[in-house]
Amino acid sequence: MTRKKHISYPELIAGFRKKGYFLKTYGKVIERGVKYPLYKLVLNPLCRQTLIITSGFHGEEANGPISLLEIINRVADFSHKMQVRVIIYPCVNPSAFALYRRYNGSNEKWNNYFLHYKLADGQWVGILQPGEEFAAYKIVESSAKEVWPLKRDIFQYRTAEGILDIHQQEGYLKTGDIFAYIYDRRVIYRRIMKKLAKIAKIARNDKTFTFDRGRKILYRIDNDGFIGLHDGTITDMFYRFGCKFAVAAETATRLPLEKVAQVNLIWIMELIKLIAKGS
Ligand SMILES: [Zn+2]
Repeated sequence: MTRKKHISYPELIAGFRKKGYFLKTYGKVIERGVKYPLYKLVLNPLCRQTLIITSGFHGEEANGPISLLEIINRVADFSHKMQVRVIIYPCVNPSAFALYRRYNGSNEKWNNYFLHYKLADGQWVGILQPGEEFAAYKIVESSAKEVWPLKRDIFQYRTAEGILDIHQQEGYLKTGDIFAYIYDRRVIYRRIMKKLAKIAKIARNDKTFTFDRGRKILYRIDNDGFIGLHDGTITDMFYRFGCKFAVAAETATRLPLEKVAQVNLIWIMELIKLIAKGS
């Protein structure tokens, strides 16, 4: 697949600043001799209820971070109106964004794995089979260096009511262009999917699999466009913290930026509404 050119990491950050937003540094990474400061943006810092937004774990999913820049004014206005604090990590993995590839400049993989699960037989795994019971879980250190400062910083928000992790999917989607990873609250999320269906086609009944420690994990996007997989990702970790709304939103990389931005804005606004309502 040909790689389209997109804005650089400094341009992305400058874009937020040009729109009048202040970005705080929470760490830095150095990859291939280039220093990348890591930034977050805090909207309505004095509000009590919180939505966390992360994007850019995977560099080839560039329209995640770029869409946030496109919609930031709408997010700021709406969250202010609803009195919800929003903590945005717009580009978690900047060297991957700069290189337009999945992992960082040192190719340190699996940067979105935060938990391990202990099975009944004592074995530790990274992903639970659908419906599989577990005896315990533990937070693990990532092999990817950009995750270390993120984790240190994000833990201060571990009581957040919501987290939205924005991703994209390249290839494999046969039936549509959007889907989401959710935990519980299916009826609520189905209502959001209905709104999203006006923007892009929902992927449904699409089977896939992955490998984790030699175990083949079979799972599928279900008929509603959802995957409910305990895969140890940042959303799964926040779910274990007791976070009410933990969603990973996915759009196909082939979807135009304008639509990606609309989809992500709907997710953000709907989650802000839910958090404000306390439902
Ligand atoms: Zn991803």
